[in-house]
Amino acid sequence: MNHVEAIARRAAAATQPFASLQDVRRAQLLDGIAGALDAATDELVDVAGEETALAEGRLRGELARTTAQLRKFGAVVVEGAYLEATVDHADSSDVPPRPDLRRVLRPIGPVAVFAASNFPFAFSVAGGDTASALAVGCPVIVKTHPGHPRTSALTARLVAEALAAGGAPDGVFQTVAGFEEGLELVDAEPIEAVAFTGSLRAGRALLERCASRPRPIPFYGELGSLNPVVVTPDADAARGGELAAGLADSFQLGDGQFCTKPGLVLVPEGSALEAALPAHVVAGRPRMLTPTIAEGYETGRERASAIPGVEVLAGGDAATAPTVLAADAATLLAHRELLDEVFGPVTVLVRYRDAAVLDEVLETLEGSLTMTLHAQPGEDVAGLADWMASRAGRVLFGGWPTGVAVSWAQHHGGPWPATNTVFSSVGATAVRRFLRPVVFQDAPASVLPPALHDDNPLGIPRRVDGRLELP
Ligand code: NAP
Repeated sequence: MNHVEAIARRAAAATQPFASLQDVRRAQLLDGIAGALDAATDELVDVAGEETALAEGRLRGELARTTAQLRKFGAVVVEGAYLEATVDHADSSDVPPRPDLRRVLRPIGPVAVFAASNFPFAFSVAGGDTASALAVGCPVIVKTHPGHPRTSALTARLVAEALAAGGAPDGVFQTVAGFEEGLELVDAEPIEAVAFTGSLRAGRALLERCASRPRPIPFYGELGSLNPVVVTPDADAARGGELAAGLADSFQLGDGQFCTKPGLVLVPEGSALEAALPAHVVAGRPRMLTPTIAEGYETGRERASAIPGVEVLAGGDAATAPTVLAADAATLLAHRELLDEVFGPVTVLVRYRDAAVLDEVLETLEGSLTMTLHAQPGEDVAGLADWMASRAGRVLFGGWPTGVAVSWAQHHGGPWPATNTVFSSVGATAVRRFLRPVVFQDAPASVLPPALHDDNPLGIPRRVDGRLELP
């Protein structure tokens, strides 16, 4: 048995004891992790700053978001609606007659989490994937990201110590490192699902690896996203300058290394936004997270700039690297490669002449995590909004897509290539990825989980004989 297989078996052995803890106990464990990370903020931020070159303010904010997220997932499981507990009492008058049926969600077992490079806290070792899996009772094995190894090791030590201090079963949280161990983890028999944030290329490789195991398992990938923005002629006329400033802030935030960076902006021909945008571009070489990401950025930017008909409005060379490109709709329609995501501070303006051309461009777009509409009050945008909802997981009216709130209603997902599933990696419903429904038919009360007992001992929301019952 290799090292990774042994780790996976330890996680498997922890599955039943961990799953059978009450939700309130697991919430306490998540609180304990959050408290340990909060207490080590200075050290974590120092180490992450050295490894990633991200600014101190950004890292402090991200760590606070990460610990708040751990606590929020605790609150989600304590509230209990996530279990979707449903009781249908036997009814011989139903058509067809039905037996006693009781449905609940249960944790799937050990989950492999591939940490992301661009959020060393919030999407890494103790990030949303780890928090949501632990919250519902799934042991976690994190494949750490090589972009921040010391931050990962320090975070992992704090998480493991907090879990041990809180009395969690041994093997509930472990890590592996390196490309090969990542593959061995996906292949390890006890693993029940893989959660991943990263590139489309790696995501597809891992998706296929999960599917080709002797026992295939689900892969939850958050992959590539263009995050298109549409500016109507009225909005441009009324607020073009202001929109330019907002766009500049958003696409350059974190040197453009956000999965929600606005990468494509559809503007009317002769727009005020286009005229104002170059003045907001910050001169200076971006600090990319890893050499691979820097190389990917340079190559992608150069490839897009070289497309015939594409103009460089701002930046465009290594010394002034944040870059604004612009093209007419005809250029985009002839060169769909302009729609390839470039991870880093680059955005592409595409000019449309009228609504018909805008529609033609919109039809070429694939799924995205977000789509954003800037329109004026009173404009009829119902059709556009509905189209956006058909192609993106989050539709914004005004504002900019960078910044993803962690809340009950949040959805961070979208049609391929944004993700390969219908699930979210942020917000309360992120836990759904690590749960599987089971229905008990005519089961004696002694075998039912407490969520399905007649007297609702957990006091959770349930649907009983078709009616929603709130505690
Ligand atoms: P990545 O190359 O996709 O790598 C992410 C993780 O997957 C790493 O742990 C990596 O391991 C592993 N990996 C890569 N290729 C693999 C393969 N063929 N089989 C198995 N495992 C594999 O992501 P990255 O290093 O963070 O950045 C590269 C690019 O990812 C960026 O330029 C950007 O396009 C994209 N990205 C997207 C998001 C998003 O939110 N959608 C976030 C971050 C990055 P090793 O590094 O140990 O080899």
